[in-house]
Formats: sequence, structure tokens, C-alpha cells
Amino acid sequence: MNKRQQQLWLFLFLLPCLGIASCQATYLQTVTGAVSKKEVNYTLIHEHATTNFIGASSVTLPPDKQPAITTILPHLQIVKAAGVTTLFECTPSFIGKDVVLLQELSKQSGIHIITNTGLYAAVRQKYLPPYAYTENYKALAQRWIDDFKNGIDGTGVKPGFIKLGVNEGPIDSIETKLLLAAMETSKQTGLSIAVHTGDYQSALSQYQLASKQNFPLRKLIWVHAQNATNEQRKLLAEKGIWISLDGVSETTRQYYVEAILFLKQHKLLHRLLLSHDDGWAVLENGSYHQLELFGNGNKTPYSTIHRFILPELLTKGVTQKEIDQILRHNPISCFGLKR
Ligand SMILES: [Zn+2]
Repeated sequence: MNKRQQQLWLFLFLLPCLGIASCQATYLQTVTGAVSKKEVNYTLIHEHATTNFIGASSVTLPPDKQPAITTILPHLQIVKAAGVTTLFECTPSFIGKDVVLLQELSKQSGIHIITNTGLYAAVRQKYLPPYAYTENYKALAQRWIDDFKNGIDGTGVKPGFIKLGVNEGPIDSIETKLLLAAMETSKQTGLSIAVHTGDYQSALSQYQLASKQNFPLRKLIWVHAQNATNEQRKLLAEKGIWISLDGVSETTRQYYVEAILFLKQHKLLHRLLLSHDDGWAVLENGSYHQLELFGNGNKTPYSTIHRFILPELLTKGVTQKEIDQILRHNPISCFGLKR
């Protein structure tokens, strides 16, 4: 090979790297640090440990984490044995998000746990702190970017995604401000935005705002897309938004199987995320001594997908490769960050 040919081969070898992104290592930002995508297998993208629905003005975090660890850890160990390596904990700020507890659960279970930054305006704005009303979107974004750079509330624990909550119907002015703040944060950090969404009208107006802002739709997740029809999900999936079917339970599992088969039929499985939305609520005294499992039809948290949905999908023509895509590759593609 002469020198010119050598240069040509070198150029061809390096060509993929000229696009930069393909040569950067992809990772998830977990509560214990960055984790390479190579360490990620099956992932539950929307679950909870503990939540406290008392409201932003009164919520506190219990200093004694042990009762929560005693309750939750065995369930993490069971799903780990079933092949789950990674769990996104979606409890928002001011609804009892406890990143110190999450860090301990992650260390003891060996499961990679990812927490979030952002604000939740659903449920009549009960979970918004006063600064959500007084600050503009850039100031809110700066708070979330600080979380990403320095950690949440002085803990050093960094978020791996942005979590918002919005009501039903077209997004209102405060929801629009939160979404603009999230898009600004995403542009500066690479974090994807998971939006608890009341209904299809809300999802549609989020899509319209994001498009107007030239925001990459592959960074936007329609959380609770199960509250819509197959055709509505198809419409926004085709635009490039992630469809999160995240309320899988034993009692409603047939609905999920059919929704997944519909997406398969329309070649949209590459836009699907799947989870249970399982977790525990803190009761009135605010301690972790009394935790109540969400009453969503799952007596055994985090496990219905493995116990019921996957076996049924396999009998109905979904391949193992497609299951790997839904539970492993899609979460990485959706939430993966680049170094
Ligand atoms: Zn949830």
C-alpha cells in the first residue's frame, strides 16, 4: 500500500468519528455516578421508591432511611435476579424524592438507580414551590443545570433526566414555562425530559411547543401515554416522541399487550418505553415506618412485566430481539448521555 492509499484507509477508518457523537461513550448518570451502557441490561424506566403526596409546603424527608430500605430492598433483589440492572426513579422534587435513600438502595441492591431534576405542576400545582411562580424559565433552567453539574440539594447526587408533570388539556402558562426551562436544561446538559402528561391534548401541545422551539423530539418522553388511544400514540411516535407505557399492572396487562402489538404492527417499537409505575406512599406521619404500596393492581412491585407481559408477548409474535430493544436498547437510546 502506498502512502496515499494508507491515508485513504486512515480517513475511512476515522470517518465515523468525524460525526463526533458516534465515537463518544454513552452512559447513564446514576445516583452512584456515571455507568457505561455496557453495564446496562433490562431497564425499568418509570418506577418509584417512596413518595409523599402531602404537598410542597409541608413535605420533609425522614432522616431514618432504614425502614424504607427494609421494605424496598427485597423487591429490588428479586427483579435484579430476573435480569433488571437499571431503574429510573421518577418521584419528582417536592413529592418526597429522597436521593440519599436511592443511593443506599442502589449500593445495597447493585441496581443502577437514576434520579431526576425538574418540577411537577400536575394536581392543581400542589407540588410547586413559590419560586416556580416568581422565576423565569432561564432561572429555573439554571437551578436544574446546577443539579446536573454539582448534585441535588448538596448531596452530590446528580440527576440522569428531567421530570416534569403537567395537567390535562393544552399546556397552560406555568406548564409552558417549565417545559421551556426543561428544553433549555436539556440543550445544555443532554438530559431527556419525561413529562407526566394528563391526556393526549396535553401531549399534542407539548409536541407543538417543542417543534416551534426546534427541540429534538427524541429527547421528549410522553409519560402515561397509556391514557390515550393507539392512533394518538402512533401519531406522536411517528413524529419522534418517546411513548411511555408505564402503568403495567396484573389487572390491566391485556391492554398493554395489545398496545405493544399495535406499535409492532406499525413498526414503532423503537419509540416504546415500558414500566410499572410501582412504588410506596409515605403515610401521614411522614416517616418510613409506615409505607403503603401503590394501589395499582400490582401486589408484587416491579415484576409484572417479567412475570406476565414478556411471556405473553413471546407467544404473540414479538421476538426476543424486540423485547431486548424495548427494555434495553430504547432506554439507553432515550436517556443515554455522551461524554
Ligand atoms: Zn410515576
